[in-house]
Amino acid sequence: AKSEGKNRYKIYTAQMSERTVDALLMENDLRRALEQDEFILFYQPQVHLRTGKIIGLEALIRWQHKTKGVISPLDFIPLAEETGLIEEVGAWVLAHACERFHHWLKQGLSLGKVAVNLSARQFRQAHFAETVVEALNKSKLPPQYLELEITESLTMQDTDEVLQTLGYLNKLGLSIAIDDFGTGYSSLSYLKKFPVNKLKIDRTFIHDVGSELDDGAIAKSIIDLAHNMSMLVVAEGVERLGQSRWLYDQGCDQVQGYYFCKPLSENELLKLLYSEKVF
Ligand code: C2E
Ligand code: CA
Ligand code: CA
Ligand code: CA
Repeated sequence: AKSEGKNRYKIYTAQMSERTVDALLMENDLRRALEQDEFILFYQPQVHLRTGKIIGLEALIRWQHKTKGVISPLDFIPLAEETGLIEEVGAWVLAHACERFHHWLKQGLSLGKVAVNLSARQFRQAHFAETVVEALNKSKLPPQYLELEITESLTMQDTDEVLQTLGYLNKLGLSIAIDDFGTGYSSLSYLKKFPVNKLKIDRTFIHDVGSELDDGAIAKSIIDLAHNMSMLVVAEGVERLGQSRWLYDQGCDQVQGYYFCKPLSENELLKLLYSEKVF
């Protein structure tokens, strides 16, 4: 039994070090990607339900790897967070999203706001607010065109500092959305303290609405909660007409999902906007 244990231990360490080597290789690769500008943003339209107009674009990062092809954010954002590289990646996203959106604004495209995802670690970095201000100044994008998507988990951490930063950003005129709302297991009391403008209903609560599988009680509660607190509400992951109809009937403000539009490259987006009106 003893030797068996020893053996198992060996296998375990071998796996661990392999994983460490992988992570180290990927960390170096991420640094290289930052230097060589291998990241791109895709944009997913957010649609106003009552008018069908595009009222926002969510910026979603992809890594266009030189040899490995396109890498999903789910496969590199966690490592970027662990290694701290998220600060640099996040600053790139903010700067790029603001610059592009201002460019489209100048061309006369009316697209509402551009929404940028923030990870908690990025938000808690020492000079986060300055990074945002710099992105706005450099791009000349007025703050009311920028929306920051934060997660519920952030609201549970270092509350005073988070509150201060959010308050400052909100006073600048940009808006704050809570992403994946309903999945964070946090108390709702922060909604009273924090300057939140929008709730994004997580797609797990949207999946079966409008079908006989789900009466939509949670989604309906979130819509009412948002409106009772003078916030906007957007449903994520809308893939079917039935879901959209149901959300319309419940008074949901905005929708986002494959049923309306998948995330698009800049070229695809412009093609869509300059072709016939789709929405
Ligand atoms: P998220 O913020 O919840 O973004 C929504 C994700 O759902 C996107 O995946 C989007 O492509 C996908 N999606 C959109 N419509 C539908 C639909 O109808 N059905 C389904 N099943 N999925 C839909 P994506 O682009 O792979 O991004 C995954 C996650 O990576 C994001 O989740 C976000 O947490 C993170 N992420 C993306 N870009 C950034 C970024 O710039 N910074 C940070 N920190 N995180 C990012
Ligand atoms: Ca998001
Ligand atoms: Ca989300
Ligand atoms: Ca998510």
